[in-house]
Amino acid sequence: MRLGNQRASGNVEDRRGMGMAAGGVGVGGIVIAIIAYFLGIDPGAVTSVVEHAGSGSSAQQEAPRGAPADEMGQFVSRVLGSTEDVWGRVFQQSNAQYRPPTLVLYDGQVRSACGMGQAAMGPFYCQGDEKLYIDLAFFRDLQTRFRAPGDFAQAYVIAHEVAHHVQNLTGQFRKMESAHGRDRNQVSVRMELQADCYAGIWGHYAGAMKQLDDGDIAEALNAASAIGDDRLQKQSQGRVVPESFTHGSSEQRMRWFKRGLESGQPRACDTFAAGSL
Ligand SMILES: [Zn+2]
Repeated sequence: MRLGNQRASGNVEDRRGMGMAAGGVGVGGIVIAIIAYFLGIDPGAVTSVVEHAGSGSSAQQEAPRGAPADEMGQFVSRVLGSTEDVWGRVFQQSNAQYRPPTLVLYDGQVRSACGMGQAAMGPFYCQGDEKLYIDLAFFRDLQTRFRAPGDFAQAYVIAHEVAHHVQNLTGQFRKMESAHGRDRNQVSVRMELQADCYAGIWGHYAGAMKQLDDGDIAEALNAASAIGDDRLQKQSQGRVVPESFTHGSSEQRMRWFKRGLESGQPRACDTFAAGSL
Protein backbone atom coordinates (compact mmCIF):
# COMPACT_ATOMS: atom_id res chain seq x y z
CA MET A 1 0.00 0.00 0.00
CA ARG A 2 1.02 3.61 -0.47
CA LEU A 3 -0.20 5.57 2.50
CA GLY A 4 2.42 8.33 2.51
CA ASN A 5 -0.11 11.03 1.69
CA GLN A 6 -2.89 9.58 3.80
CA ARG A 7 -3.81 11.45 6.97
CA ALA A 8 -3.60 9.25 10.09
CA SER A 9 -6.86 9.02 12.01
CA GLY A 10 -6.87 10.26 15.58
CA ASN A 11 -9.70 7.88 16.48
CA VAL A 12 -7.31 5.31 17.87
CA GLU A 13 -7.05 4.16 21.47
CA ASP A 14 -3.77 2.48 22.25
CA ARG A 15 -4.28 -0.02 25.06
CA ARG A 16 -1.24 -2.11 24.25
CA GLY A 17 0.73 -3.00 27.32
CA MET A 18 -2.03 -1.85 29.65
CA GLY A 19 -3.46 -5.21 30.66
CA MET A 20 -7.05 -5.82 31.65
CA ALA A 21 -7.64 -2.63 33.59
CA ALA A 22 -7.33 -0.54 30.49
CA GLY A 23 -10.16 1.29 28.89
CA GLY A 24 -13.01 3.46 29.93
CA VAL A 25 -15.83 0.94 29.87
CA GLY A 26 -17.60 -0.28 32.99
CA VAL A 27 -18.47 -3.92 33.39
CA GLY A 28 -22.16 -3.30 34.01
CA GLY A 29 -23.75 -3.41 30.60
CA ILE A 30 -22.42 -6.69 29.36
CA VAL A 31 -23.72 -8.57 26.34
CA ILE A 32 -25.33 -5.53 24.83
CA ALA A 33 -24.92 -6.45 21.27
CA ILE A 34 -23.85 -9.05 18.87
CA ILE A 35 -20.19 -8.95 18.18
CA ALA A 36 -19.39 -9.62 14.62
CA TYR A 37 -16.24 -11.62 14.50
CA PHE A 38 -13.80 -11.75 11.73
CA LEU A 39 -13.19 -15.44 12.22
CA GLY A 40 -15.74 -18.19 12.28
CA ILE A 41 -16.39 -18.44 15.98
CA ASP A 42 -19.49 -20.01 17.42
CA PRO A 43 -21.59 -17.24 19.02
CA GLY A 44 -22.33 -19.60 21.94
CA ALA A 45 -18.66 -19.79 22.81
CA VAL A 46 -18.50 -16.05 22.81
CA THR A 47 -21.31 -15.67 25.29
CA SER A 48 -19.52 -17.87 27.78
CA VAL A 49 -16.36 -15.82 27.43
CA VAL A 50 -18.43 -12.75 28.14
CA GLU A 51 -20.09 -14.21 31.23
CA HIS A 52 -16.82 -15.27 32.77
CA ALA A 53 -15.63 -11.74 32.50
CA GLY A 54 -18.52 -10.33 34.47
CA SER A 55 -16.69 -9.77 37.73
CA GLY A 56 -13.67 -7.80 36.67
CA SER A 57 -12.18 -5.03 38.73
CA SER A 58 -13.32 -1.49 38.23
CA ALA A 59 -9.80 -0.08 38.13
CA GLN A 60 -9.51 2.03 35.07
CA GLN A 61 -6.64 3.63 33.35
CA GLU A 62 -6.89 6.16 30.57
CA ALA A 63 -5.57 4.82 27.30
CA PRO A 64 -3.69 7.26 25.10
CA ARG A 65 -5.79 8.53 22.19
CA GLY A 66 -4.54 9.49 18.78
CA ALA A 67 -2.33 7.86 16.18
CA PRO A 68 0.50 5.91 17.86
CA ALA A 69 4.00 6.77 16.69
CA ASP A 70 5.30 3.26 16.04
CA GLU A 71 5.24 1.82 12.55
CA MET A 72 2.31 -0.57 13.01
CA GLY A 73 0.35 2.04 14.93
CA GLN A 74 0.90 4.52 12.12
CA PHE A 75 -0.14 1.99 9.50
CA VAL A 76 -3.34 1.11 11.32
CA SER A 77 -4.17 4.80 11.89
CA ARG A 78 -3.64 5.67 8.25
CA VAL A 79 -5.78 2.79 7.04
CA LEU A 80 -8.47 3.90 9.49
CA GLY A 81 -8.09 7.47 8.19
CA SER A 82 -8.54 6.18 4.66
CA THR A 83 -11.75 4.35 5.62
CA GLU A 84 -13.03 7.55 7.26
CA ASP A 85 -12.39 9.54 4.09
CA VAL A 86 -14.05 6.91 1.91
CA TRP A 87 -17.12 6.28 4.05
CA GLY A 88 -17.47 9.98 4.74
CA ARG A 89 -17.78 10.48 1.01
CA VAL A 90 -20.09 7.52 0.43
CA PHE A 91 -22.45 8.62 3.21
CA GLN A 92 -22.43 12.16 1.86
CA GLN A 93 -23.58 10.87 -1.50
CA SER A 94 -26.83 9.84 0.15
CA ASN A 95 -27.01 13.01 2.25
CA ALA A 96 -26.04 11.23 5.44
CA GLN A 97 -23.23 11.89 7.83
CA TYR A 98 -20.66 9.26 8.69
CA ARG A 99 -19.83 8.89 12.38
CA PRO A 100 -16.42 7.23 12.53
CA PRO A 101 -15.71 4.39 14.97
CA THR A 102 -12.78 4.19 17.38
CA LEU A 103 -10.12 1.58 16.82
CA VAL A 104 -8.69 0.00 19.96
CA LEU A 105 -5.28 -1.62 19.80
CA TYR A 106 -4.67 -4.13 22.55
CA ASP A 107 -2.66 -7.18 23.39
CA GLY A 108 -3.88 -10.35 25.01
CA GLN A 109 -7.22 -9.40 26.51
CA VAL A 110 -9.41 -6.36 26.38
CA ARG A 111 -12.55 -5.09 28.04
CA SER A 112 -15.27 -3.80 25.73
CA ALA A 113 -18.91 -2.82 26.17
CA CYS A 114 -19.63 -6.27 24.69
CA GLY A 115 -17.57 -8.07 27.35
CA MET A 116 -14.05 -9.35 27.35
CA GLY A 117 -12.28 -9.73 24.08
CA GLN A 118 -9.39 -12.10 23.58
CA ALA A 119 -6.77 -12.12 20.92
CA ALA A 120 -7.73 -15.71 20.05
CA MET A 121 -11.13 -14.52 18.82
CA GLY A 122 -9.59 -12.36 16.16
CA PRO A 123 -10.49 -8.73 15.52
CA PHE A 124 -14.04 -7.76 16.41
CA TYR A 125 -16.46 -4.87 16.40
CA CYS A 126 -18.63 -3.99 19.40
CA GLN A 127 -21.87 -2.22 18.66
CA GLY A 128 -22.31 -1.12 22.28
CA ASP A 129 -19.32 1.23 22.23
CA GLU A 130 -18.86 1.57 18.45
CA LYS A 131 -15.27 0.44 18.66
CA LEU A 132 -13.26 -2.06 16.71
CA TYR A 133 -10.76 -4.12 18.65
CA ILE A 134 -7.59 -5.39 17.08
CA ASP A 135 -4.72 -7.31 18.60
CA LEU A 136 -1.77 -6.81 16.29
CA ALA A 137 -0.72 -10.40 16.94
CA PHE A 138 -3.54 -11.31 14.58
CA PHE A 139 -1.60 -9.72 11.74
CA ARG A 140 1.24 -12.10 12.49
CA ASP A 141 -1.23 -14.99 12.50
CA LEU A 142 -2.56 -13.84 9.19
CA GLN A 143 0.90 -14.11 7.77
CA THR A 144 2.02 -17.36 9.35
CA ARG A 145 -1.00 -19.44 10.38
CA PHE A 146 -3.34 -18.35 7.58
CA ARG A 147 -0.59 -17.76 5.03
CA ALA A 148 -2.04 -14.44 3.98
CA PRO A 149 0.87 -11.97 4.06
CA GLY A 150 0.95 -8.38 2.93
CA ASP A 151 -0.05 -4.96 4.18
CA PHE A 152 -3.23 -4.88 2.13
CA ALA A 153 -4.32 -8.17 3.68
CA GLN A 154 -4.02 -6.41 7.06
CA ALA A 155 -5.83 -3.35 5.77
CA TYR A 156 -8.66 -5.58 4.56
CA VAL A 157 -9.06 -6.90 8.12
CA ILE A 158 -9.46 -3.34 9.40
CA ALA A 159 -11.78 -2.41 6.53
CA HIS A 160 -13.92 -5.48 7.28
CA GLU A 161 -14.38 -4.45 10.92
CA VAL A 162 -15.11 -0.87 9.86
CA ALA A 163 -17.72 -2.35 7.54
CA HIS A 164 -19.50 -3.82 10.57
CA HIS A 165 -19.64 -0.31 11.97
CA VAL A 166 -21.17 0.89 8.71
CA GLN A 167 -23.77 -1.88 9.04
CA ASN A 168 -24.47 -0.67 12.53
CA LEU A 169 -24.99 2.91 11.32
CA THR A 170 -27.26 1.80 8.50
CA GLY A 171 -29.38 -0.39 10.77
CA GLN A 172 -28.40 -3.76 9.25
CA PHE A 173 -27.33 -5.04 12.65
CA ARG A 174 -30.94 -5.33 13.72
CA LYS A 175 -31.31 -8.27 11.35
CA MET A 176 -29.00 -10.23 13.64
CA GLU A 177 -30.94 -9.43 16.79
CA SER A 178 -34.17 -10.98 15.60
CA ALA A 179 -32.62 -14.16 14.22
CA HIS A 180 -32.26 -17.38 16.22
CA GLY A 181 -30.82 -20.87 15.88
CA ARG A 182 -29.88 -21.96 12.41
CA ASP A 183 -31.46 -18.82 10.98
CA ARG A 184 -28.93 -16.90 12.90
CA ASN A 185 -26.06 -18.59 11.10
CA GLN A 186 -27.63 -17.71 7.78
CA VAL A 187 -28.13 -14.09 8.74
CA SER A 188 -24.57 -14.05 10.04
CA VAL A 189 -23.21 -15.29 6.73
CA ARG A 190 -25.12 -12.55 4.89
CA MET A 191 -23.85 -9.93 7.34
CA GLU A 192 -20.26 -11.10 6.96
CA LEU A 193 -20.34 -11.29 3.18
CA GLN A 194 -21.82 -7.81 3.09
CA ALA A 195 -18.95 -6.64 5.32
CA ASP A 196 -16.51 -8.21 2.86
CA CYS A 197 -18.26 -6.39 0.03
CA TYR A 198 -18.10 -3.09 1.96
CA ALA A 199 -14.39 -3.72 2.58
CA GLY A 200 -14.17 -4.04 -1.20
CA ILE A 201 -15.87 -0.64 -1.60
CA TRP A 202 -13.16 0.88 0.53
CA GLY A 203 -10.58 -0.90 -1.67
CA HIS A 204 -12.28 0.58 -4.74
CA TYR A 205 -11.78 4.13 -3.47
CA ALA A 206 -8.33 3.41 -2.04
CA GLY A 207 -7.42 2.38 -5.59
CA ALA A 208 -8.86 5.61 -6.95
CA MET A 209 -6.78 7.52 -4.38
CA LYS A 210 -3.68 5.71 -5.69
CA GLN A 211 -3.09 3.99 -2.37
CA LEU A 212 -2.74 0.51 -3.86
CA ASP A 213 0.33 -1.23 -5.18
CA ASP A 214 0.42 -3.98 -7.76
CA GLY A 215 -0.41 -7.20 -5.98
CA ASP A 216 -2.48 -5.59 -3.23
CA ILE A 217 -5.78 -6.89 -4.56
CA ALA A 218 -4.32 -10.37 -4.77
CA GLU A 219 -3.24 -10.10 -1.12
CA ALA A 220 -6.75 -9.22 0.02
CA LEU A 221 -8.35 -11.95 -2.07
CA ASN A 222 -5.87 -14.44 -0.66
CA ALA A 223 -6.75 -13.29 2.87
CA ALA A 224 -10.49 -13.51 2.17
CA SER A 225 -9.96 -17.02 0.90
CA ALA A 226 -7.75 -18.04 3.83
CA ILE A 227 -10.41 -17.18 6.39
CA GLY A 228 -13.42 -18.73 4.66
CA ASP A 229 -15.42 -21.00 6.98
CA ASP A 230 -14.80 -24.06 4.82
CA ARG A 231 -11.05 -23.54 4.89
CA LEU A 232 -10.97 -22.89 8.63
CA GLN A 233 -13.18 -25.88 9.41
CA LYS A 234 -11.07 -28.17 7.32
CA GLN A 235 -8.00 -27.00 9.18
CA SER A 236 -9.49 -27.28 12.65
CA GLN A 237 -11.81 -30.30 12.41
CA GLY A 238 -10.82 -31.93 9.16
CA ARG A 239 -14.27 -31.63 7.58
CA VAL A 240 -16.65 -29.00 6.29
CA VAL A 241 -20.14 -28.44 7.71
CA PRO A 242 -21.84 -25.75 5.59
CA GLU A 243 -24.88 -25.40 7.92
CA SER A 244 -22.60 -24.18 10.68
CA PHE A 245 -21.00 -21.49 8.54
CA THR A 246 -21.13 -18.05 10.09
CA HIS A 247 -18.93 -16.11 7.66
CA GLY A 248 -19.23 -17.78 4.27
CA SER A 249 -16.96 -19.99 2.21
CA SER A 250 -13.61 -18.88 0.81
CA GLU A 251 -15.11 -18.57 -2.65
CA GLN A 252 -18.05 -16.49 -1.39
CA ARG A 253 -15.84 -14.18 0.63
CA MET A 254 -13.59 -13.50 -2.33
CA ARG A 255 -16.53 -12.99 -4.68
CA TRP A 256 -18.34 -10.46 -2.48
CA PHE A 257 -15.15 -8.58 -1.75
CA LYS A 258 -14.59 -8.33 -5.50
CA ARG A 259 -18.12 -7.08 -6.04
CA GLY A 260 -17.56 -4.12 -3.77
CA LEU A 261 -14.12 -3.55 -5.21
CA GLU A 262 -15.31 -3.43 -8.79
CA SER A 263 -18.53 -1.48 -8.27
CA GLY A 264 -17.72 0.88 -5.39
CA GLN A 265 -21.48 0.87 -4.78
CA PRO A 266 -23.16 -0.10 -1.50
CA ARG A 267 -26.24 -1.25 -3.39
CA ALA A 268 -24.11 -3.91 -5.09
CA CYS A 269 -23.56 -5.37 -1.61
CA ASP A 270 -27.15 -6.27 -0.76
CA THR A 271 -26.49 -9.82 0.38
CA PHE A 272 -29.90 -9.87 2.08
CA ALA A 273 -31.72 -9.47 -1.22
CA ALA A 274 -29.48 -11.91 -3.07
CA GLY A 275 -31.19 -15.17 -4.00
CA SER A 276 -27.97 -17.12 -3.91
CA LEU A 277 -24.81 -16.06 -2.16
ZN1 LIG B 1 -16.97 -9.90 10.42
